[in-house]
Amino acid sequence: MISLKFPDGSARDFESGVTGRDVAESIAKSLAKKAVAMEVDGQLRDLYEPIKQDAEIRIITRDDPDALSLIRHDAAHVMAEAVQELYPGTQVTIGPVIDNGFYYDFARDEPFTPDDLPKIEAKMREIINRDSPFSYQVMERDAAKKMFRDMGEAYKIELIDAIPEGDDIKIYSQREWFDLCRGPHMTSTGKVGKGFKLLKIAGAYWRGDSNNPMLQRIYGTAWASEDDLKAYLHQLEEAEKRDHRRLGREMDLFHFQEEAPGAVFWHAKGWALFQALIGYMRRRQNDWGYVEVNSPDMMERTLWEQSGHWEKFAENMYIAETPDDRVFCCKPMNCPGHVQIFKHGLKSYRDLPLRIAEFGKVHRYEPSGALHGLLRVRHFTQDDAHIFCTEDQITEECVKLNEQMLSIYRDFGFEDVRIKFSDRPEKRVGADAVWDKAEAALKRAVEAAGLSYELNPGEGAFYGPKLEYVLRDAIGREWQCGTIQVDLNMPERLGAFYIGTDGEKAAPVMIHRAMFGSLERFTGILIEHHAGHLPLWLAPTQAVVATIVSDADDYAEKVLARLKEAGLRAEADLRNEKINYKVREHSMAKVPVLLVAGKREAEEGTVSVRRLGSQKQEVMSLDAAVQTLVDEAVPPDLREHSKAA
Ligand SMILES: [Zn+2]
Ligand SMILES: [Zn+2]
Repeated sequence: MISLKFPDGSARDFESGVTGRDVAESIAKSLAKKAVAMEVDGQLRDLYEPIKQDAEIRIITRDDPDALSLIRHDAAHVMAEAVQELYPGTQVTIGPVIDNGFYYDFARDEPFTPDDLPKIEAKMREIINRDSPFSYQVMERDAAKKMFRDMGEAYKIELIDAIPEGDDIKIYSQREWFDLCRGPHMTSTGKVGKGFKLLKIAGAYWRGDSNNPMLQRIYGTAWASEDDLKAYLHQLEEAEKRDHRRLGREMDLFHFQEEAPGAVFWHAKGWALFQALIGYMRRRQNDWGYVEVNSPDMMERTLWEQSGHWEKFAENMYIAETPDDRVFCCKPMNCPGHVQIFKHGLKSYRDLPLRIAEFGKVHRYEPSGALHGLLRVRHFTQDDAHIFCTEDQITEECVKLNEQMLSIYRDFGFEDVRIKFSDRPEKRVGADAVWDKAEAALKRAVEAAGLSYELNPGEGAFYGPKLEYVLRDAIGREWQCGTIQVDLNMPERLGAFYIGTDGEKAAPVMIHRAMFGSLERFTGILIEHHAGHLPLWLAPTQAVVATIVSDADDYAEKVLARLKEAGLRAEADLRNEKINYKVREHSMAKVPVLLVAGKREAEEGTVSVRRLGSQKQEVMSLDAAVQTLVDEAVPPDLREHSKAA
């Protein structure tokens, strides 16, 4: 007999070899009917797999969130069967589950076309309607290889060879179709349901290596219900409309080119936006008692050896040799530089906490396939800061940091923020007592703010625990931006100390924190969150004065001068074009306000104010229009101040 423990804490004895299906049946017929898989000691398993020892068990029904990955994996198998049925001679290779869906890589001489996708979907529906049970058998290694060789499935042989000796070679079948697979799967193809769709075809090298043959990858998405699928497809469509790479082009913000992969060419307008972000953060940091510094972009290898980066991070670093035979590294992080600044001049406990901030540009080599517009670059600017403090100051600093973090996100229109808390990993440095203190400090920081957080056990850095802030954008996507990390290691490693109250040397604690994270990435997120309709204080061009007739040119110049005097980022459009043409063009460039000037406005000293996305025009006196814009363009942090004052 074995003892199985249920989620409610109760336990019952069963015959050894009992299946999840039997267990479900013993609880309730209705549960057995709904069960699609089980979780045994935290791992998803096939419902019909025999359980041979004491375990914690949970029956998984199709509507359980954990069933989603099974739905996607089952859908992948169904797609592979459909493809092989429709296009005989196609070889299947691998087909994993990914975020929001799945893919399969196929080897076929003829290319798939978008027209093939609906055909494959129709065949998939047929297979799903057949509702064939999934089952598996464990095969002997050589027999499995021979079987696949006879079928002409060359890639499978390589895959079997990659399975470690001693591991089972499992073959999953649905009717006559089968594939090499680790599993698990749900009970039958019918469980995939109707909430799936094939999305696109892409090329992919076998095993991601460009020396290998190019395969054809078909991507699909699958959800528990058709409604969930619909919501996801809508989100994709919205994301497409908001793509910051396209908006960046239309708004003339930046570009990339082949000679500088992963590096941004900021155009004047994009740079204005970037500087607005820096200006905002600089003001807030000054209020919070930071000092701003700037550390060298390149420092000698020896320093990176001391910091541990040379050993742990070398493959991501840009390295240069100089004619005098010295080796320099472009900084991938600002921390070691800040420790050098801390070490300059003797520090005592009275100097702590010392908060050092830098808009430091860091350089990290990333594979070119990983690069993605502003969201993933090789050269980026962090709003980085390091707080050097005593162990007793950790809590207070973290509580403050957490409040600051949330207030910043609010100012940018992100109200929905999730926090992930990663605690001590198995491999770590530092005494447990200090870890206790650091973890307790971070926990208190989020609890003090009345926030719930999600625990990532064991996921902290080797030098300390961390908080990660995840923002939800206007279309429900999540972006990880800020982090707070409590570091019990680096200051000591780099020889930093302060003189404590007892007159003895002590190593400071170092809190690493970034709020935007990467300014490049944050800019990309902001563009997509606002779909280019940035609030006035961030808009690169805040207003354009557009003339209707050339008679109004002089007046338009006067209006422009007034706007600039008032500190607004403005331009004039005096081209000899129809006003509708001008409106269209500036709307495309997401200019928030158009001040239209014709003969009548010139005579009366007024402007017609036209807002982005609205058909309405409001005639205002020039003074009133300028004042309205000036008020609206005040950054949110200064607005609060003026309210308080
Ligand atoms: Zn599989
Ligand atoms: Zn750091």
